Amino acid sequence: MRSSHQGRKLRYEGTRTACPMCDASSEIRTSQAITKTMRESTYQCTNVECGCTFVVVAEINRLLNPGATPNPKVNIPLSSHVRRDMVRVLLDNAGEAGHQARYTLPVTGDLFAGSADPP
Ligand SMILES: [Zn+2]
Repeated sequence: MRSSHQGRKLRYEGTRTACPMCDASSEIRTSQAITKTMRESTYQCTNVECGCTFVVVAEINRLLNPGATPNPKVNIPLSSHVRRDMVRVLLDNAGEAGHQARYTLPVTGDLFAGSADPP
């Protein structure tokens, strides 16, 4: 992967996309989360003769792997390549080994954990 362009360091290559008008590189100027699975970003073309600005909405489309800490409150379709029957068999038959999570909150089973007690 290229790390520089015309002597300029490309630090945020992952945040660039081609300008729809002139195909030059465009950079993200602002970005905000709309939902947990959707983000809206404003891009600006780096070609000074163009100067196009545009909005990109990026949405998580499907999971290739749900990960080890699935969130039941987030509904993202599972990719059709995932062999659900095999995953089910694996989960039903897998043993368990102790693990102390360092980066994930403990699972309490209570969706309202942390909220104030009802009066
Ligand atoms: Zn452009």
